[in-house]
Amino acid sequence: MTLKSYHTLDVQGKRVLIRVDFNVPVKSGKILDDTRLRAALPTVKDVQARGGKVILLTHFGRPKGRDPLLSTAFLQPTLEEIFEGPVLFAPDGVAPSSVATTQHLQDGEILLVENLRFHAGEEKNDPTFAKELALLGDVYINDSFSISHRAHASVEGITKHLPSAAGACLLQEVEAVARALTHPKLPVAALVAGSKISTKLALLENLLPKVDFLILGGGIANTFLRAQGYPIGSSLVEEDMIHTAQQILEKAPLQDCRIVLPRDAVVAETLEGGNPHTTTLDPIKPTEKIFDIGPQTVTLIQEILDTCQTIVWNGPMGVFEVAPFHEGTAKLAQHVGSLTQKGQVFSIAGGGETVAAITSAGAAPLFSYLSLAGGAFLEYLEGKTLPGVSALKA
Ligand code: ADP
Ligand code: MG
Repeated sequence: MTLKSYHTLDVQGKRVLIRVDFNVPVKSGKILDDTRLRAALPTVKDVQARGGKVILLTHFGRPKGRDPLLSTAFLQPTLEEIFEGPVLFAPDGVAPSSVATTQHLQDGEILLVENLRFHAGEEKNDPTFAKELALLGDVYINDSFSISHRAHASVEGITKHLPSAAGACLLQEVEAVARALTHPKLPVAALVAGSKISTKLALLENLLPKVDFLILGGGIANTFLRAQGYPIGSSLVEEDMIHTAQQILEKAPLQDCRIVLPRDAVVAETLEGGNPHTTTLDPIKPTEKIFDIGPQTVTLIQEILDTCQTIVWNGPMGVFEVAPFHEGTAKLAQHVGSLTQKGQVFSIAGGGETVAAITSAGAAPLFSYLSLAGGAFLEYLEGKTLPGVSALKA
């Protein structure tokens, strides 16, 4: 899908509404990770350089009505550092007083608007609210992929009222997924792991006809191993998904897809202090649980990835939060990173825990693309149409 690019919008002297996702993680008033704030830089700088007035729209948290604890005002000083200049604030949110403020902005100035979710109309995609919101600007840019799976007023409704386009981040993310799944260099491998099949079923179904290798790990692989008849101790298994796993295993060869399952595992009785050790699949004791893929499996997967040109990854291979069960994920992350750096593969990964695992393995900067979006990334890989994306079709 080709999107209208923000480059094609005339922004000179205009009030440019930019929908960002500044829903950053915060603890005791401190921003733990400012990646989402920095991500806005390319689009904001471009609009400033072309003489536009920047008006930043975001939600923060899940307020029910106006909630001072969830005001976006606290972002102001950090944004001023990142954008290296003053950032004004519109405390009334979507209101005539804020419209007046936007009308007094100078070219290149930045205004941050109060939390959009203080207004009930935002999440309801209320047409009247979308119209009021549109009064704050002359043109609109969506620069947030992570919110684009929601048909909210600031994502979808607003595009009916203003000339609209996609910003740098949104374009980049859509292009990265297209490069991995729509027109990839073959062969393509998908690594799908994490805790549960039930949350990844739509993803597995969509990937099956698109990829040459579907490499499974984590709790997901357990259910598949069980479907193949392996006794896997007291590992996490979704009993009601065993039949579905069997069907996927049967369907795969018809779609020219090879499903790759673990050959060995790292097991223990409990996560903490339960004598973790490597084992082949056959003698897993009834009291033991699989918490990671084993070294043989890591080597097997690495050899497969060596033959590929495109790699898509969602879901950690093991309970990466607890050592030593992070090792399978960490070794694969480093391997994918090094294949990427050698120019052998295009690699894309996404998902909250997946990105955390790749980051803690030190491999994040080595990937071609890491998605900032959790739910939206997953829905896009599932082949769903995202309302915020289709609203900007060229
Ligand atoms: P993402 O957020 O990247 O989409 P998921 O939420 O699907 O990933 O899965 C991540 C979780 O899966 C992690 O918290 C991890 O501990 C868990 N997990 C991985 N392997 C196993 C396993 N063998 N048994 C239990 N949990 C696992
Ligand atoms: Mg998760």
